[in-house]
Amino acid sequence: MQNGNGKRDHHNLLSDGLTQKQLFENNDGITYNDFIILPGFINFSSDNVSLQSKLTKTITIKTPFISSPMDTVTESGMAIAMALNGGIGIIHHNCSVEYQASEVRRVKRYEQGFITDPLILAPNNTVADVYAIKKLHGFSGIPVTENGKINSKLLGLITFRDIDFLPKDQWSIYPVSQLMTPIEELVTANNDLTLKDAYHILQRSKKGKLPIIDCNGDLVSLIARTDLEKNRDYPLASKDNRRQLLCGAAIGTRKEDEKRLEALVQVGVDVIVLDSSQGNSIYQINMIKHIKNLYPHIQVIGGNVVTQTQAKNLIEAGADALRVGMGSGSICITQEVMAVGRAQATAVYKVAEYARQFDVPVIADGGISCVGHIVKALTLGANCVMMGSLLAGTQEAPGEYYYQDGVRLKKYRGMGSLDAMNACQELSAASRYYSEGDHVKVAQGVAGSVVDKGSVHRFIGGYLYTGVQKSFQDIGCQSVKQLHDDSQEGIIRVEKRTASAQLEGGVHNLHSYEKKLF
Ligand code: GDP
Ligand code: GDP
Ligand code: 5GP
Repeated sequence: MQNGNGKRDHHNLLSDGLTQKQLFENNDGITYNDFIILPGFINFSSDNVSLQSKLTKTITIKTPFISSPMDTVTESGMAIAMALNGGIGIIHHNCSVEYQASEVRRVKRYEQGFITDPLILAPNNTVADVYAIKKLHGFSGIPVTENGKINSKLLGLITFRDIDFLPKDQWSIYPVSQLMTPIEELVTANNDLTLKDAYHILQRSKKGKLPIIDCNGDLVSLIARTDLEKNRDYPLASKDNRRQLLCGAAIGTRKEDEKRLEALVQVGVDVIVLDSSQGNSIYQINMIKHIKNLYPHIQVIGGNVVTQTQAKNLIEAGADALRVGMGSGSICITQEVMAVGRAQATAVYKVAEYARQFDVPVIADGGISCVGHIVKALTLGANCVMMGSLLAGTQEAPGEYYYQDGVRLKKYRGMGSLDAMNACQELSAASRYYSEGDHVKVAQGVAGSVVDKGSVHRFIGGYLYTGVQKSFQDIGCQSVKQLHDDSQEGIIRVEKRTASAQLEGGVHNLHSYEKKLF
């Protein structure tokens, strides 16, 4: 707590409320709703609150938000939006290896300074090939080189504008060499220029793409004008050292997942999440060791865990972060069906308390249904939060909207629901909750729907981010680190909430109301 002069006053703490140690000392199963954080002292504007936090041992992101690897939450559209807004998306694995790898590839190619591995065509490729690339990847500004590969002589550039009047029955007749803008008419740049210079050239020439060539005229990379705009709009974006967006992907812990892993590493995945509901297994320990051994540069998030003993094994195996939660998710029925799991606030507190000693970040996964839950998870020691239901209704989540009783909805289902397991039984995602050896499926999740939340850019980048900043201000903390330090020192005080305190803290005594949040 700080005194009126804004100075920290450790010796003069009033013993109002509880420290977190006291809150959890009875070993009760406590949820986010069972406690409240007491306000602190404000001497800064909420705009000045930094939400930067560690995702793994070596990766720090500017926004502690992660989208869950679920097939109704994270594919490339969501992962791109999450990364642009400073978080990260984890691509689900309830799909073929090829599909998952191509989704990761889309994210890694999405926004870059220099696109060092652009898609390229050879002169005898046809217009049909351009349409195929457009359909698969969404872009159409394609360089044409002598052999259709990088580091080969640049001959021209073909874009949608060169071909959009050509009738479909002629697509496979025309080679791109006939319709492309030839090298003589192209604005190109040499590979010794900086990204800033390149962007100036693009601005001046008003072109959409700038091919970069070496002294022999061979293509070495490509720059897209759209990236210029994106760089300007997303100052918090999570990027690797090549300025590509960060992307995570989930895999299982079976032998065949080693192939999936290899494919994901090849397309540049940054983070692998080992997707098990009970992560404390010999399979997961072996998989962590396998990854760390083969691909030491890849960050591995182990889990899920809810106890310190589980955490210990995964940390010892080499996990770079832990995903915490068992049965707390909105679509989960694990605690009910399996009688195993843990109340989420207790799980986050206990695991974070242990993992902190080894500098292993903790991700609070499941049961986040509002800004307040995010702040509570972070206060209890989580470095980041992972969300499913909160993001499933956004435009960037997979699936189409539909109407039910006049409400605009999207489908949201647990990965352990019969629905999800049946959708992809032959693939390994289902094995998180179902193994091939089992003859009977036991569902650990349900399938349902969530309401339309608009775009992730507005929801995460606007509402959640600002909401969490304002809450930090109420607590009197300017950063996640300060929140953690002050929690451990007992400076931040908390209190248990009785059932009636929870009722009082919600809307009450109204005839009717509409809950519009942003
Ligand atoms: P286009 O005009 O249809 O090519 O598309 P835009 O220029 O609007 O968007 C292309 C986006 O895709 C940019 O963000 C690029 O960085 C990204 N991108 C990633 N890989 C490639 C690639 O191989 N070729 C092209 N043209 N763009 C790529
Ligand atoms: P936009 O992204 O839709 O504005 O399209 P581009 O700027 O990529 O291409 C527009 C048209 O200009 C196409 O017919 C290109 O082939 C042609 N073009 C001519 N010179 C150049 C050049 O130096 N760079 C690019 N990118 N396109 C050129
Ligand atoms: P939510 O944010 O919707 O509350 O929870 C999402 C989390 O629930 C996921 O990140 C994942 O850990 C967990 N989860 C996803 N599907 C299932 C399921 O079918 N059963 C259980 N027990 N947990 C699930």
